[in-house]
Amino acid sequence: MKTSDLSQTGASSPQKILQNRSELFSSFAWTDYKAQLQNRVQGEKLERYFQLTPSERIGLQDTIRLNVSATPYYISLTDPEDIEDPIRKMILPREAETIFSPEESNDPLHEERLSPVKGLTHMYPDRVLLFTNHECSVYCRHCMRGRKVSDSKERMLSEDLEACFEYIESHPEIRDVVLSGGDPLNLSDSKIDWILERLEKIEHVKICRLGTRNPVTLPFRITYELCNIIESHNTDRLSIFCNTQFNHSKECTSEAKEAVLKLLKAGVSVGNQCVLLKGINDSGETMLELHKKLLELRIRAYYMYDPELIPGSRGFRTPLAKGIEIVGYLRGKIAGMGIPQFVNDLPGGGGKITLTPDWYLGYYKPERMHVFRSALRGTYHVSPEPPDSTMEDSYPEITLETWERISPDSLGAKEKKSYE
Ligand code: SF4
Repeated sequence: MKTSDLSQTGASSPQKILQNRSELFSSFAWTDYKAQLQNRVQGEKLERYFQLTPSERIGLQDTIRLNVSATPYYISLTDPEDIEDPIRKMILPREAETIFSPEESNDPLHEERLSPVKGLTHMYPDRVLLFTNHECSVYCRHCMRGRKVSDSKERMLSEDLEACFEYIESHPEIRDVVLSGGDPLNLSDSKIDWILERLEKIEHVKICRLGTRNPVTLPFRITYELCNIIESHNTDRLSIFCNTQFNHSKECTSEAKEAVLKLLKAGVSVGNQCVLLKGINDSGETMLELHKKLLELRIRAYYMYDPELIPGSRGFRTPLAKGIEIVGYLRGKIAGMGIPQFVNDLPGGGGKITLTPDWYLGYYKPERMHVFRSALRGTYHVSPEPPDSTMEDSYPEITLETWERISPDSLGAKEKKSYE
């Protein structure tokens, strides 16, 4: 459906939208990240740059989630004529975002219950999550931390951060600190410098991970000045990584590539944690295109998240089988470093688990053979257990009948249809 079909809703004409966009995009120094932030378009003002559908109009008025705001850069990646544009769906709330469904929760991962001090979650023994900042360049509609992000009451003062550092100092088992939020790179250079310096001084902290969407939503934020600061703390004492979140190949622009190259030159390895989102990237082809582009940007795939059960999230959720299907689709079509792990962060604070297609069929004990299905060809293959193994009882066993259907006489393959 094109926006011209919305002409009866009282929305601005497509020509007016184009004119408004052109005026906004030329009204300031485009690559100045501070100017981009100052010119963010918020709430119902987005109507000047999108011809709203009835569902988006309701979403903007009645969203139960975080604030609505986007950088001109991110808006410029959308096709104003296409109401199915994937980036548009991450910027504009829709009607589904106004409904708090019974299965949803403000804090499905129990991050608050696992928070010994304000702004810090200690779920895994050796890692903590540090909520550094409540602000972001764009407020993504699918944000799993919408209960805090964009809320000025959640602002982290320096004394709050200091209390977090003291907690980390008093827990020598913590080796890895994830700086998240909100977006840590929406803090000032001097604040980022202070946070990294503070972490670098804690003897047992060896790894710092920056969780940021700025390479996607505001790549100009990745300045040489910022990278010099990061590099100055990326030392023998502390290894700094970056995990970002590209969700669609349309986000993989030359500006994003430049931002990532700056981080790489500062010695920061960059990985991607996409979120599987209904109507945005929920197909094997779309995910393949995204991950091919990410490798061109020198970004390795890390996770593909199943969306959390946050308020108003029904519009984004896909069946669990969809993620498993996508991982199966990707295998064999792109190098392994371009295939994300499909992850479900278990509701109730159970931590992350990975889900994969059923490529391992089981163990045929009489022959001491494992049976696999090839992701590439769909054929069946067998491989022996080591003769001195003491772990034979730990495998799911397959029956003689199944074994006989899967060509037990050779180590080669048999056509898929013979088993199914
Ligand atoms: S940038 Fe990250 S923290 Fe901020 S709104 Fe988007 S998903 Fe949430």
